[in-house]
Amino acid sequence: MNSTSTVTHLEDYDTEQPFQATVVSSERITSEESGIEVRELTLDVQKPDFEFQLGQSVGVLAPGNADFGQKHHFRLYSVADLPERGAAGLPRIKIVVRRTSYIDKYSGEEYPGVASNYLCNLTPGDRITMSGPYGLAFEVPEEMDANLILIGTSTGIAPFRAFVKHLYRNVPEWKGTITLFYGARSGLELLYMNDKNDDFAQYYDDETFEAFKALSPRPAWAAPIDWEGALAQRGEKLWALLQQPHTYVYVAGLEKMRAELDKAFREIAGSDEKWERRKAELIAGRRWVEVLY
Ligand SMILES: Cc1cc2nc3c(=O)[nH]c(=O)nc-3n(C[C@H](O)[C@H](O)[C@H](O)COP(=O)(O)OP(=O)(O)OC[C@H]3O[C@@H](n4cnc5c(N)ncnc54)[C@H](O)[C@@H]3O)c2cc1C
Repeated sequence: MNSTSTVTHLEDYDTEQPFQATVVSSERITSEESGIEVRELTLDVQKPDFEFQLGQSVGVLAPGNADFGQKHHFRLYSVADLPERGAAGLPRIKIVVRRTSYIDKYSGEEYPGVASNYLCNLTPGDRITMSGPYGLAFEVPEEMDANLILIGTSTGIAPFRAFVKHLYRNVPEWKGTITLFYGARSGLELLYMNDKNDDFAQYYDDETFEAFKALSPRPAWAAPIDWEGALAQRGEKLWALLQQPHTYVYVAGLEKMRAELDKAFREIAGSDEKWERRKAELIAGRRWVEVLY
């Protein structure tokens, strides 16, 4: 786990005041043909005063194996939509969960990820234990004419979806531009931006919002997402934006993105030094913020 928040280890998060939530729905949001299963879970929080802000994440305490002395497995999930109230007036939240598995480096066998499989197997009416909310990684900039460059892979789109929706719906004074780069292995895995569910198209404003997809050139071979190609095509424009004082870059998704993006931005900058200097300046000014896991 690696994020820019001051807390960087899962065991540092406070889980002393857990609460219950009820599953209202669980919907698969990747195509059935895609080998990757991502589900959107809608949860009613059984704690009437529960509040969260956009850009935060919530904790899930998946049941542990008592034989191994594990009370629970604690994991974080980004809030994927604006705050709302459910039918009984309870706070309602949405999270987006990718079913993960991993190959054990010793046995070579594939094992299901604990919490993501627990969450993806839930059905309406099930109850889960949660904690939080935590962190506030992505904030609306103070300057209402800021340029936002949002870069996400896979479930990294979840916080940006809520963020963009919030800006266009609730911040009428917002005059800035948003450039969203969304990476996935194939078009089938583009959450909220596929034929079935083109959620972004419902609320963005053509004048100020641009979205670009970055895909893998050979998805069947698990080739990396072509960030270099996707970013290089808008290289000059991106570099010009990065020179402006009011440009913010928010990055969310899988840890391996960091190296891939650095490589792509080095190309755009023209040299390693130029990119490293610019990125360090952006980070120092809190204008480059990452939530990578
Ligand atoms: C701020 C933040 C926000 C997040 N938001 C989201 C979100 O919106 N949606 C989402 O789906 N996820 C999100 N995550 C990731 C999420 O918290 C979990 O890490 C993820 O769901 C996997 O958990 P798991 O219990 O299923 O898998 P785990 O059982 O923890 O395994 C997951 C990974 O850990 C590694 N691993 C663990 N054990 C081994 C082992 N023995 N050998 C080899 N590798 C191993 C592997 O890389 C594997 O893929 C977020 C994380 C952070 C920090």
